[in-house]
Amino acid sequence: MLVLVTGGAGFIGSHLADLLIARGHQVIALDNLITGSEANIAHLRGNAGFSFVRADVTEKITLGKKVDAVFHLASLPSPVDYLEMPIKTMKVGSLGTLNTLGLAKSAGARFLLASTSEVYGNPLVHPQPESYWGNVNPIGPRGVYDESKRFSEALTMAYHRAHGLQTRIARIFNTYGPRMRLNDGRVVPNFVRQALLGEPLTVYDDGSRTRSFCYVSDLVEGLYRLLMSEHVGPVNLGNPCEMTVLEFARAVQAATGSRSEIRFIVPQDARTQDDPLTRQPDITLAQSVLGWQPKVGLAEGLQHTIAWFRQQLSTC
Ligand code: UDP
Repeated sequence: MLVLVTGGAGFIGSHLADLLIARGHQVIALDNLITGSEANIAHLRGNAGFSFVRADVTEKITLGKKVDAVFHLASLPSPVDYLEMPIKTMKVGSLGTLNTLGLAKSAGARFLLASTSEVYGNPLVHPQPESYWGNVNPIGPRGVYDESKRFSEALTMAYHRAHGLQTRIARIFNTYGPRMRLNDGRVVPNFVRQALLGEPLTVYDDGSRTRSFCYVSDLVEGLYRLLMSEHVGPVNLGNPCEMTVLEFARAVQAATGSRSEIRFIVPQDARTQDDPLTRQPDITLAQSVLGWQPKVGLAEGLQHTIAWFRQQLSTC
């Protein structure tokens, strides 16, 4: 297949490009490099099956080639980024998804939307199955991301129903691993960077909110299987191993051997406004329709991630 990956120079997009190339597909990675980085795909540059296009999905996309499949991953998933770039975030989710669906339709390509656990908002059902409609504050600061992804899901289903486009929707839960940006502001890069630099680990509020962390190699395997499957409705992809942010901070302390202390802070900006209190994927559907479940545990995933950040810190 010739596969387009939007956000292909990003954290998840570049790992997906690696998997696709390894499985014998050709890949066009498209990215505007706002948060993506050419360094993430530098190792693929000499590969005849790989090409990079610097473009913005919110503008009309012309590839000059007919692709067989599209993974639409372009997005600003870090709360720090989408709070800083709220209108860009909404444009990517709306115009970007519209343009990318249009491209898939004109090529007759299969389309996979990278959606998010944020469509569940601050969930009132726990763990979250795909049948749960969510609890999102549309006018809160996180609404720009959550609603743009909810809109993307609705638009994807509209293309499926109105045009018969072969579409797939992945609801991605917190994912971590090498190639995350040191300063993207999310909890994994923050805690690992802080621990390696001997700085305090900044646990917001009392650290009792929960998240479930999935290693990136598991996630991209799930994305690939979902594209190849016949399942149209949304599928949760994440690791059900849930923990509090405070427990996660202790896990990072232990894995790095750092003497950094834990510091509880109350952010004065919008960072924790509407911050979901709990989050855990119900992956029953992914297990049954994709035969998929995560294989990499936190200890192993953290070792790879810490090694990556250590290397980043030694070169910057
Ligand atoms: N968090 C924290 N300290 C940090 C960064 C994040 O305590 O330095 C918390 C944040 O409030 C949230 C959780 O960690 O409850 C996960 O945040 P992240 O930004 O990684 O992603 P989210 O899951 O909210 O999209």
